[in-house]
Amino acid sequence: MRLSGITPSGHPQLGNHLGAVRRWASDGRPDDLYFVSDLHAMTTSHDPNRLRARTSEMLAVLVASGIPVERVFVQSDLARELGALTWVLECTCSYGEAARMVQFREKGSGQGGVRLSLLTYPVLMAADILLQGADEVPVGEDQNQHVELARALARRFNGTYGEVFAVPRAVLPATGARVRDLADPTRKMSKSARDAAGVVFVLDEPDLIRRKVRRAVTDGCTGVAYAPAERPGVANLLEILAGCLGGRPADLAEGFGSYGALKEAVADAVIEELRPIRERTRALLADPGELARIRREGAARAAERGEHRLGSAMRLIGAG
Ligand code: AMP
Repeated sequence: MRLSGITPSGHPQLGNHLGAVRRWASDGRPDDLYFVSDLHAMTTSHDPNRLRARTSEMLAVLVASGIPVERVFVQSDLARELGALTWVLECTCSYGEAARMVQFREKGSGQGGVRLSLLTYPVLMAADILLQGADEVPVGEDQNQHVELARALARRFNGTYGEVFAVPRAVLPATGARVRDLADPTRKMSKSARDAAGVVFVLDEPDLIRRKVRRAVTDGCTGVAYAPAERPGVANLLEILAGCLGGRPADLAEGFGSYGALKEAVADAVIEELRPIRERTRALLADPGELARIRREGAARAAERGEHRLGSAMRLIGAG
């Protein structure tokens, strides 16, 4: 079983859609699980109301994108279970192991006011994985080390106290298009970008999408050609077009005589790609009862799935 999380650290954007969520909906296996990792969005300064709103929005987008409701849940709905298991795993983890994590060293150590959770969140991530019994965790390079930690903790717990946990491994995520920021094609499009001018959000209205695409950075060359290294802005537009319509970016390039025409085609394609998701998401967000039901049932299923593992772990470690 595979487990994937998405952190509501911003609004979902086109890169999340083309690079990940669309594939989760189309290629996911029947027992895969997807969760909104809102607890992971609290390791640096955050606004509670904004986090709550973004969590609902992210859940609605996952469902609106076609992921079956049986496969989704929100992490904080399992706060009790995860809190307990995180503690058990912290008691299985050495300080040095946690402090060695590259992300912590880069973002946290040595700075004043850093939240302790920035050090310990990989242990919470291990609890996310081990509670559900996931054996495969699709992650990018930056999270590999955290899955290794989950692996080490599962092995150590099993070896010291008794077999409870499946030992997970990191797998390469099914790669969709890699989308770059429209205003700065050297950077990945990101939901937490400081400047949203080059970021198309899944819920942007069509005219806003068109404006953002029209303003996309290109270059001073003439003629449309696919040359990612020399002409990253134009290549990004062609890759987005290919992501929406299918086909190869280099072939698509031949159909356009000017950047203006390419941009209009990209805007049309992105608007049509996102339209049904935006409409279904808006409908879900306008029906808080339905969203709450999806959330409640997802939480109940996820809690039940992990109950015996948490119970066994507590008993074996000498608690309860
Ligand atoms: P993140 O937004 O970093 O939490 O990532 C959530 C998922 O979306 C991960 O599977 C990422 O690989 C994917 N993703 C995020 N941004 C992009 C992007 N610009 N292009 C392609 N995939 C992306």
